[in-house]
Amino acid sequence: MLLAAPPATLSRLHPPTLWTLPEAVTRNVQRARAATDARIMAVVKADGYGLGAVTVARAALAAGATWLGITAVAEAVPLRRAGFDVPILSWLNPAGIDAALAVEQGVDVAVGSVEELRQLVADAPAGAGVRVHLHLDTGMARGGCPLDDWSALLDEARAARGRVEVVGVMGHLPRADEADPAVNAPAVLRLRHGRDAVLRAGFGPVLVHLAATSGALTDPATHADLVRVGAGLVGIDPSLTTALTGAARFTAPVVHSALVPAGTAVGYGGAHVADRATHLAVVGVGYADGIPRELARGAGVAIDGVRHPLVGRVSMDQVVVDTGAAAVPRGAVATVFGPEGGAVPSVQDWAGWAGTIPHTILTGIGSRVERGIA
Ligand SMILES: *Cc1c(COP(=O)(O)O)cnc(C)c1O
Repeated sequence: MLLAAPPATLSRLHPPTLWTLPEAVTRNVQRARAATDARIMAVVKADGYGLGAVTVARAALAAGATWLGITAVAEAVPLRRAGFDVPILSWLNPAGIDAALAVEQGVDVAVGSVEELRQLVADAPAGAGVRVHLHLDTGMARGGCPLDDWSALLDEARAARGRVEVVGVMGHLPRADEADPAVNAPAVLRLRHGRDAVLRAGFGPVLVHLAATSGALTDPATHADLVRVGAGLVGIDPSLTTALTGAARFTAPVVHSALVPAGTAVGYGGAHVADRATHLAVVGVGYADGIPRELARGAGVAIDGVRHPLVGRVSMDQVVVDTGAAAVPRGAVATVFGPEGGAVPSVQDWAGWAGTIPHTILTGIGSRVERGIA
């Protein structure tokens, strides 16, 4: 019968999906608030560390964050469209600062050099008064104005009064993964010098901010007026001191399964050979979806509450899992990572298997993976 209904196995499988868990973001903001009296900026750059800037921002603001942080002015557009009317700061701005858009969207911008400030002044719409945070290099040599050039930057900002309004002074801690106040002390001191110079130069009150997640969780001396929390929102604590809750779950379908005899070579290059008769399940995500190809032994996924090891090489679109005696049917759903613990790997587990940090796992999930909110 050519026109018979297709067999059930051809129905749509559960598509590979990255789920954002807003309740986890809420819990993580609550933990940050317990660690500081400063205001909390929810940093949602890189599309909310891969989990959706609007979704992450909404949960963070509901939990008490009062600022949003981004790294390009245009990222403010969907946030404003979602109705968030809190202050937003954009730093880095790799394509330059879109001054007109910053004014239109009501976005503060960070400026870390005389050159950048001159460009901003040249681009600023007449009479607008772009709100600027002066960015001091507090020890990273990766953006921000060196202390030696700080007074020249202040002179330039003074000359540009009316076109720009200095409302903040910021630095960034270079030793984010060391939960040791002593390593932060030089940056704290440097920022204090920078702030004092701004006040002496006759600018009005400024908002001072330095700490990211690690400083916010571990070192009150870095808190100043505001802490900028990004990784912490999604459950990553670079300081490894605080139990945060993972805000992501990555699920993917089993697309094929088979019982294979001992001696079966699996995947490209036959990098794995089955040492016994076993069941294999092919899961429909690969390196194009963000599964690191550089995995060490030990990587696995959870299916029905059981951890099964990946075997053979990661392909562009698939990985193969050895499910042993268990015959896992096509259509079963594998959990690649999630916050549950137990059989379910964490984002941190994947980072360990790949020799990287959890940030790169989360921000590396491919664009063809569907997104959901759970
Ligand atoms: C990314 C970033 C943050 C947030 O850092 P996390 O460790 O992810 O919290 C804070 N400040 C600046 C300048 C950043 O670039």
